[in-house]
Amino acid sequence: MKSLVLEERLKLSLRDFPIEREEALGVRDVRIKLHTVGICGSDVHYYTHGGAGPFQVKAPMILGHEASGIVVETGAEVTSLKLGDRVCMEPGIPDPNSRATRMGLYNVDPAVRFWATPPIHGVLRPSVVHPENFTFKLPDNVSFAEAAMVEPLAVGVHAATKAQVKPGDIALVMGAGPIGLVTALSALAAGCARVFVSDVDDTKLELAAKLGAITPINVARQDLAREILAATDGWGVEIVFECSGSPRAAEGVFDPLCPAGRVVFVGVQMRGINYDVGKAMVREARVEHVFRYAHVFPRCVAMLSSGAIDVKPLITRTFDFEDSVRAFEIAASAPKGEVKMQIALPQ
Ligand code: ZN
Repeated sequence: MKSLVLEERLKLSLRDFPIEREEALGVRDVRIKLHTVGICGSDVHYYTHGGAGPFQVKAPMILGHEASGIVVETGAEVTSLKLGDRVCMEPGIPDPNSRATRMGLYNVDPAVRFWATPPIHGVLRPSVVHPENFTFKLPDNVSFAEAAMVEPLAVGVHAATKAQVKPGDIALVMGAGPIGLVTALSALAAGCARVFVSDVDDTKLELAAKLGAITPINVARQDLAREILAATDGWGVEIVFECSGSPRAAEGVFDPLCPAGRVVFVGVQMRGINYDVGKAMVREARVEHVFRYAHVFPRCVAMLSSGAIDVKPLITRTFDFEDSVRAFEIAASAPKGEVKMQIALPQ
């Protein structure tokens, strides 16, 4: 079976790339046969741009990091997993001895090795060797497709945690892409009474409005701050999650924010941005940043299993592995209304 290889910018191929045969199974590792892999904005960005910031694709690299699969081999000291277990995997492996990891902040360990971030290969391939500690068993009622959504969902759960959501908070999520929508779901699951979601894509906003107590705002036609202030008796929202990655949206984060509100920057900003410190000051706003997530995969799996969060409506299209080059071409065209596209590997 083949792997999906990004040879260079705008050049993908499905070909033999037998790295998994070179991957030795450590005593605390498992070998996983891949089942479903989601297409992430970062995968698409590497495809269209050949890199992101300091991470440049200098040699052929396998894409994909949002994954679920089946355990097919276990190391001698593995205790929590066995052959045939259905699992999802956390794609970043930190150095266990680094200072950040020892402090519990392993996501910001500078030495973290993260799938499909150059030069580390991703998992659009037959199998992968992964540490037991970063591999999570799935309950029977969580599908492989839902499990491949745990990775993006983890970003939303981490953001809601950083925001310290309190029951009854009202939040705004800027951006109705996959990360915006999982953040909105996480904010509701954490106790928000209502979440506003802003975007310019009506199809995505219609989908957002069906996910719960979510009020869509199309910023192509509506003034975001005016709508929010009108809906909150002029007070504003307790939390703004910036998930669009748009410098323009980021500039406006304080306008709809209430006094002592919190802003969490979630969307990746490719360049430096400006925001108005004066507006932050007069509100005594707290500003947080997130980088991926830490310690949240088990929570995400538990919420999918209990029904506290339903990610199924976000999965708008599934491709066969043989069509994965075309899947990336479609993803790169930023098709309207598509939220999460996934690739199902042959079993
Ligand atoms: Zn991702």
